[in-house]
Amino acid sequence: MPDAVRFLPPPPAEGSADFEADKVNHEQAKAFRAGARGLRAIREATTNVDSMAVLFSGAFGMELSRAATPRTMNLLSRGVVTIRQAATKPKATYMRKRPFVYLGEGTLFPEEEAELRGSGSYPSGHSIRGWGMALMLAQLNPERQDTLMSAGYEWGRSRVIAGVHWASDVEASRLLASACFARLQESPEYRRDLESAREELRILKGEISRRGDETLLRDWIRTISSDAFGGRKPMTEYEDITTGFLSAEMEKAGLRPAFDGNWFQPFRMISVTSRLTKDRIRLKGPRKAELRCPDDLVVWTARATDKVELDDAEFVFCGFGINAPEYGWNDYEGVDVRGKIVVAMVNDPGFYDPSLFRGRNMTYYGRWLYKFEEAKRQGAAGCLVLHETDAAGYGWHVCVNGHLEDNLALYDPETGNAGELGVKGWLHADGGRRLFDAAGLDFDAALAAAKRPGFRAAPLKVRSDVEMDVTYDVRQTRNVAGILPGTDLKDEVVVLNAHWDHLGFGAPDESGDAIYNGAADNASGMASVLLLARKFRDLPEAPRRSILFLFPSSEESGLFGSQFYCEHPAVPMDKTAACLNFESIGPAELTRDVVILGGGQSELDRYYVAAAAAQGRYIFFDDDNSDGWFFRSDHYNFFKQGVPAVVVENGLHPVDPDRPNRYPMSAWYHKPSDEYREDWDLEGTLANVNLMFSVGVSVANADERPQMYARSMYK
Ligand SMILES: [Zn+2]
Repeated sequence: MPDAVRFLPPPPAEGSADFEADKVNHEQAKAFRAGARGLRAIREATTNVDSMAVLFSGAFGMELSRAATPRTMNLLSRGVVTIRQAATKPKATYMRKRPFVYLGEGTLFPEEEAELRGSGSYPSGHSIRGWGMALMLAQLNPERQDTLMSAGYEWGRSRVIAGVHWASDVEASRLLASACFARLQESPEYRRDLESAREELRILKGEISRRGDETLLRDWIRTISSDAFGGRKPMTEYEDITTGFLSAEMEKAGLRPAFDGNWFQPFRMISVTSRLTKDRIRLKGPRKAELRCPDDLVVWTARATDKVELDDAEFVFCGFGINAPEYGWNDYEGVDVRGKIVVAMVNDPGFYDPSLFRGRNMTYYGRWLYKFEEAKRQGAAGCLVLHETDAAGYGWHVCVNGHLEDNLALYDPETGNAGELGVKGWLHADGGRRLFDAAGLDFDAALAAAKRPGFRAAPLKVRSDVEMDVTYDVRQTRNVAGILPGTDLKDEVVVLNAHWDHLGFGAPDESGDAIYNGAADNASGMASVLLLARKFRDLPEAPRRSILFLFPSSEESGLFGSQFYCEHPAVPMDKTAACLNFESIGPAELTRDVVILGGGQSELDRYYVAAAAAQGRYIFFDDDNSDGWFFRSDHYNFFKQGVPAVVVENGLHPVDPDRPNRYPMSAWYHKPSDEYREDWDLEGTLANVNLMFSVGVSVANADERPQMYARSMYK
């Protein structure tokens, strides 16, 4: 490194014009100690490279940290330490008195003054670091050079304002840092670090091979959504075609099979059709009544059996059927529902009273699936969810059509699902009224009471024999996954997820098309994950954590593939750092905003906020879950197990308003018209894929896994 004692003059001597200028500068700078500039001088008093990088992040235009930009941090810490060494000799040679010592004054750092007295003022060690870091960052990211050099300049001025350095100390530091920086350019180590950091930045900005990426993405989407894949319904011949294609592509990408040497994780599903004997049940209470299918109720089971019989089972009205300690709400308190049939209202209390739960923002407790889970935990024999169109978000016909036949569930070959509820079902409001009439109770008053805190459940004193004839079919389907092994943290994993299944053949549309090709949903997601497999493989250094590329089956019918995966993971859930889910990610025009579903719940936030900022975009935290959408894709099964999980969705603020999305979701969602077209706009899709790539790389390389926030809203 250059020798400042030889090429710089000594510090200004007393009585010289330069020393007089130092004194004037000092007096003027003191005025800035109060107020915001003084606070900045205090913040910038750090010599820790990580802390410095945080303060330079704004000028650089993206987060600088060991987690987000490990290679840039490596460049900075090695470079700054090298440059700083050049200040040691002149400091010791001249032992110039600092201004506060010379003038007998105070500084912004009273507790450090004793130590500062013992070291020379010329040149300033902080300023050499600040100017040096600014030079390195400007070299790396020339677009931001002016803001970066301005930040580096002010870093030095902070020392004058603080009263610990003269202006000429700082000026000497800038000259010395510049000389050292020039010398560094000849160092092979520095050049290697710089190239590596440049590549990191190009990756973060999404600049690497964007054109090639788009061609790959289109090829995969075109193929996977072609008629040859038949709409990818699980447990049909098209399952083999689809899962075989995915495993072959992963093999080409150099991944390893994720399940003990196997690309496939088989599991069994049961499809059940249940009929109430005589299509009705008789209610035995103070008054007699009956409930008919499908006007009053629709029922089914997940048990593998020919017949379900509940003899003389009692009905218990359990309000919302919610046991939520964190909201101080337990509809099961003081009531024994073992062997009984629970009746529970759909949604949660917040739907009716904004001061309860999350208001209209539905929690998981509001979902009908939760009602069954909780009733089963409580030992009930059955559970009927009381339908109400507004609270459910859909009409009675959806309940009937969805459950009259072919009810799907995971199948446990050891128990034949004997531990599942004997009877699951939806109860129409008219049926609910009939049930309460039979009990001699006021239906409206009971519902009103159940919506208020302090409600106590009670048996209805109505009983019934429930008899169902059941036919069922057990078949096998499979998840597909490949893994890219990590390095020092390879026992931990980041999961990139995209469900492979769709709806297959169904009702034809006006044009006679009966194939639900699912190009957006979810060929676009699978293609994105395949693209990311290549990008991760092509990184110059393998990520520290392993990356799992997971394609679950049977998402459309109830998230079953991801549920099975989470119960039988390739890498344990408590070693799973995050799940990034790709669901209907294209087509999408480029937007300024990026919508993250599942944001605001975990430390993943800071990764995609930084990644979006690197693209000059911003994150919109969509925490409006009044439609329950957050619960409706695979990430939710990870989230339930405490794994930070998000889905990226396209924003609403197009960069080019004259180029709107010609294929909005409403035009294709779950319709035969969900087909790939060559004029699909994939610019926004690629930007979102690159954003998630950056998040994935950063999470995979971070020292610590992201944690769920203590106040996360979902249980
Ligand atoms: Zn989907």
